[in-house]
Amino acid sequence: MDPGSVRRPSCLGLIDGVTGSRWIVDATPQFPSQLDDLFSVDGGSVGGPPEGILLTHAHVGHYAGLLHLGGEVMCGHEVPVWVMPRMAEFLNAHEPWASLVARRHVILKEMSPQSPVSLGERISVRPVPVPHRDELSETVAFEIAGASRRVLWLPDIDDWDARLADWVAGVDVAWLDGTFYSDSELPGRELGQIPHPRISDHLAEYSRLADGGGTDVRLIHLNHSNPACDPESPEARLIADAGVRVASEGERIEL
Ligand SMILES: [Zn+2]
Ligand SMILES: [Zn+2]
Repeated sequence: MDPGSVRRPSCLGLIDGVTGSRWIVDATPQFPSQLDDLFSVDGGSVGGPPEGILLTHAHVGHYAGLLHLGGEVMCGHEVPVWVMPRMAEFLNAHEPWASLVARRHVILKEMSPQSPVSLGERISVRPVPVPHRDELSETVAFEIAGASRRVLWLPDIDDWDARLADWVAGVDVAWLDGTFYSDSELPGRELGQIPHPRISDHLAEYSRLADGGGTDVRLIHLNHSNPACDPESPEARLIADAGVRVASEGERIEL
């Protein structure tokens, strides 16, 4: 594949349109460049840590970027990091994360399941527990509400368990786990060990949500093996034909 077309791991930025404050959901290994992108829109100026960070879980693609807040790099000062209780325990107990906390580069703010957190006056975020491989921490999705719209950020889940419609009820835009297109991209692997809903198994359902359900479905978190990473692939075309899409870097939604 053309190296220029390789995408960065998925994350979501939030901007308060009045104050200009910026938050980021998940700190990926590409955190600095993604933060630059977040700060460079809407007249922001690049540099410095965000107003806060919200983490879904302790898998490397979702929190490793916190390292950049350390003294050798961005040198954050008491940057709020919203986490679930086991995630806080994990960060407090293991280096190099424990030092980030001890040196007050970050302040861990514990969330409770389903209890909304206010980010300023205009954005609220509700952590929703998600079934996923929870070796090190629990996993959450975030339902994010502004004055007029509601979105869901759900990068990892083991299975929809026939409850997809419940997950996206009342949500205008749902960014959903699109890790694998189908089992055929994983030859020789024990499939039970890597649960994720396969796009091909759920495309009709995604399509119904997009078409009649009022939820705009966008797939994120694509594994490098996923043929839909290539927008010219037949799989990407099948997704588009279903009225669903693979999320693109920099896409924006007004809340
Ligand atoms: Zn994960
Ligand atoms: Zn993940």
